[in-house]
Amino acid sequence: MAALIKGETGDWELVIGLEVHAQVVSEAKLFSSAATAFGAAPNSQVSLVDAAMPGMLPVINQECVRQAVKTGLGINAKINRLSVFDRKNYFYPDLPQGYQISQFLQPVVGEGVLTIVLPDGEKSIGIERLHLEQDAGKSLHDQHPRKSYIDLNRSGVALMEIVSRPDLRSAAEAAAYVRKLRSILRYLGTCDGNMQEGSLRCDANVSVRKPGAELGTRCEIKNLNSIRFMQMAINHEARRQIEVIEGGGKIDQQTRLYDANRDETRSMRSKEDAHDYRYFPDPDLLPLILTEDYIADIAAELPELPDAKQARFIAEYGLSEEDASQLVEERETAAYYETVAEGRDKKLAANWLLSELFGALNKVGKGLAESPVSAKFLGGLIALISDGTISGRIAKDVFAEMFEHGRDADSIVEAKGLRQVSDAGAITDLIEAVIAANQDKVVEFKSGKDKLFGFFVGQVMQQSQGKANPQLVNQVLREKLNA
Ligand code: ADP
Ligand code: MG
Repeated sequence: MAALIKGETGDWELVIGLEVHAQVVSEAKLFSSAATAFGAAPNSQVSLVDAAMPGMLPVINQECVRQAVKTGLGINAKINRLSVFDRKNYFYPDLPQGYQISQFLQPVVGEGVLTIVLPDGEKSIGIERLHLEQDAGKSLHDQHPRKSYIDLNRSGVALMEIVSRPDLRSAAEAAAYVRKLRSILRYLGTCDGNMQEGSLRCDANVSVRKPGAELGTRCEIKNLNSIRFMQMAINHEARRQIEVIEGGGKIDQQTRLYDANRDETRSMRSKEDAHDYRYFPDPDLLPLILTEDYIADIAAELPELPDAKQARFIAEYGLSEEDASQLVEERETAAYYETVAEGRDKKLAANWLLSELFGALNKVGKGLAESPVSAKFLGGLIALISDGTISGRIAKDVFAEMFEHGRDADSIVEAKGLRQVSDAGAITDLIEAVIAANQDKVVEFKSGKDKLFGFFVGQVMQQSQGKANPQLVNQVLREKLNA
């Protein structure tokens, strides 16, 4: 779905390629044993290697390599048996080495593909590469007095940079891509995907062109840390570029920053070319060589990923594509659902989870992890509906009670006497009483006023305080009234 943008000189096509920086889940950094926990006191997780003390040598952390390979397999990518670490040279106060160790010509993971779901169908997005690199430290600036500080806790933390092809055609497609990638990373346990904490950040490369024309010159918008801001930044940047070109100007390849407060992008610097970085293989590190067995072992450990899970939910449980895709987006949601649905009505379980529980959680601003209703308890409620112990209507009241007090369905139903009455004798008694008390209506009904049937059903249900089994009420009433 290439959503074209209208300009003064006709339609424009938006072209986007994303570079996602995903922090690797690992206790230690890429080349040192310092810790990586988020939110620690500044400079409390810095080894001599991370501070670039003279003579310190990097030692590759095997766990980070394993995580990168796992991620590569999860995005159906080629794993390179041989890869090389390079130095990317530049100066910045938060980069004590004076270079970043990254991978340039020979990354650990090559081409892959990721499928996104759009309103009008699926689309495959190409992935160019995934490479391992170090994160830099962080500069903090005080205004009164004016001072700058450096926190090196992040210095040396392992990142996976995942680079897409310029296959995305709208901000919505870019958003779907980041969501899908984040979902896969979380399933794999290779990145926690937390954008607020900066464990997933993304750079958006944006250009515009007339449909069918060659690719335009791109600008790169750096460090977007929310999907919403990314979409706003892309749309803003596209409009800016169209205005420049239609005004007779041309786009300079630039690195830009997005200012969410003003909803605009600003130039940070003209974009450097690769040769400006003087990349060369890091002489302190050997090439990384992986064996087929090593890769096969990791492949054997991969969990079921969202696409496969979705297909299984549709095929085995008969769920709609829409429901299945919502259920598999987060691994925890899928696991919760499977616990609820185990041995129960699969569609009923999906409906209750997606509409009732998510609706209630949304209202109080909570996530599934903080749900007062556990999967076991919701499952218990579904079972009571399926076996006819309570009606669907009463179930909503029971659910509200469960949600508020965290109790299980059985004990609420018992304590409040909400059991559905499915005893034909008891229901017949109720119906006879209602008929006796409304003889005038019975006469009207018999003389052809069919609509009154609903009145009788309503009366019986009311007398039973909503507990009478509605099917049974209908059936017995029909018999009695037509007798
Ligand atoms: P760099 O380090 O210069 O940013 P990378 O290879 O890391 O280069 O990333 C380039 C990114 O830019 C990729 O995501 C690619 O898809 C995207 N890209 C390349 N050309 C264009 C273009 N004309 N318009 C939009 N995105 C582009
Ligand atoms: Mg880049």
